[in-house]
Amino acid sequence: MKTCGNCKFWQPIRNGNGECRRRTPTIQPSNRDGSDSIPADLEGYWPRTDQEAWCGEHSTNGAPNP
Ligand code: SF4
Repeated sequence: MKTCGNCKFWQPIRNGNGECRRRTPTIQPSNRDGSDSIPADLEGYWPRTDQEAWCGEHSTNGAPNP
């Protein structure tokens, strides 16, 4: 089964969670971590996914899916 956990673009973090590195980092809303603070600078983040998640751009070798 194709999942983030066996995708070329997935970077594990811990406990079955990781980051999708398929695309460049994106700017997230200021309350991403649940706080109301406004960041002093703009920082990019990769989408976080569970190792059992998947999407249509899954790849085992970095090549686009047919
Ligand atoms: S399956 Fe999709 S969301 Fe998951 S790591 Fe691969 S490209 Fe990213």
